[in-house]
Amino acid sequence: MCSHPVLTQPDFEKPFFLQTDASAYGVGTILSQEGEHHAVASQKPKLHPITYYSATFTPTEQNYDIYEQELLAIMKALTHWQHYLGWTKTPFTILTDHANLQYWKAPQKLNHHTARWHADLQEYDFVIKHIPGKINTSANKLSCPPNTDQGENDNQDQMLLKPKLFINAAHLLMLPESSKRNLMALIHDHPTARHPGCGETIRKATEVLPWTGMCQWISDYIKGCAICQQNKILTHQPKIPLYQITMKEGTLPFQQIVIVTNSFLFLYNTT
Ligand SMILES: [Zn+2]
Repeated sequence: MCSHPVLTQPDFEKPFFLQTDASAYGVGTILSQEGEHHAVASQKPKLHPITYYSATFTPTEQNYDIYEQELLAIMKALTHWQHYLGWTKTPFTILTDHANLQYWKAPQKLNHHTARWHADLQEYDFVIKHIPGKINTSANKLSCPPNTDQGENDNQDQMLLKPKLFINAAHLLMLPESSKRNLMALIHDHPTARHPGCGETIRKATEVLPWTGMCQWISDYIKGCAICQQNKILTHQPKIPLYQITMKEGTLPFQQIVIVTNSFLFLYNTT
């Protein structure tokens, strides 16, 4: 990697090759093009590096699945070298040694970041070629640089659910009635509270001072709140009772008809 000649200038008339590899904690990539011809004429020219790039994963990215990390390695390289790879005349080749990319050949349910990658990949013209790991050593070395956090102490002492999310049973009190009413005056009756519904009132009370039997008490309180009941939207309109139309015995069909207009009922005899 460090012997002469080290790097070459990109030639935009020639196709690019992007070698990538992901480790559990980083990505190593090499952008290259075909360089000097091989000693044996029948073999393809050697790839000559243009530039190297390595990056470590964020703590969140370190927890991605391996097939997501392999794709992430490609996405990071594409983003980094977008000025080279975003407008190539011919498709460039992504060389990678990891079979986990095969996962993306099958239809998958995408999460929010893989969906974004899917959209970003549409910007590029490329093919993917699998290469054995023993050939991909340079990219592999770049993906695991020394002195980087190798994730050995990952996920330790992480608080998934913070204590404030838990309602401590010790805090559930038997509140005196006056305290409950004072609380309702503040979170329900007050003009700024604007008489919220049962669910919202319970949520606010839980934040301030939950007590045993709170849900039922608040539900009953709101049922008894005159302003809430006045403003309640009637979801069950009273039904108008059916009116039975009387007719003479022995009336034939269509002999008598009924017309209803503006709540008035007119009876006509057709004979
Ligand atoms: Zn109310």
